Amino acid sequence: MKRARSTSPRQTRCDNCGQLTPAYNVVNYGSADQGYKQLCGQCFNQEAARLDGLVDFQDARFEPVSLVDCAGKAHKFHFRTRLFGPGVALDAFELRRGYPAGYRFQIIGEPEGDLLVLLGRLVEKMRRALSIKHISRGTLGLQIADRVVQGLIGWDDAAEGRVPLIVVDGRAITWEEFGRMLMTFEGWQFKLEIRDKSEEF
Ligand SMILES: [Zn+2]
Repeated sequence: MKRARSTSPRQTRCDNCGQLTPAYNVVNYGSADQGYKQLCGQCFNQEAARLDGLVDFQDARFEPVSLVDCAGKAHKFHFRTRLFGPGVALDAFELRRGYPAGYRFQIIGEPEGDLLVLLGRLVEKMRRALSIKHISRGTLGLQIADRVVQGLIGWDDAAEGRVPLIVVDGRAITWEEFGRMLMTFEGWQFKLEIRDKSEEF
């Protein structure tokens, strides 16, 4: 019989509540003179709310949700709330081998607002994004489907961060591969606009 190991390498025990927490929900909190603590997202938010005097801040822990994209593929999204001074960020992301990868979404709300309402708005935004494909597979491999590409600038370990790994339609695409796709339009013009993760185009 196989036994699950109690501590997987991607889990960290929260220094405050003792809960095993996946790496994506751990915050290294503190200062150089007072030392650092590894806090789970909930303990970090509690601490941030206390420091900012946000007595009405209500944290929430949302269960993963599966959404289907326009090609019929299901994507399982995990959620994370993060309080930061003037706002609260609600993130949705897919996981691959325990790390955020694929589609990633964020929405920012009022720290003392209703997180359930914010979640509703985030899910709407996710549905809108999942209903469009910017990349399609043609006879020449992956191609830009309709002249507009929207995605996320990610880190490429293989390139040691010299060039990005971009994420389009929840799919990781190397800079080289993206360059190849652009060559279909050789001689055409393009416009590049960069936006914060929480903003919409
Ligand atoms: Zn904790």
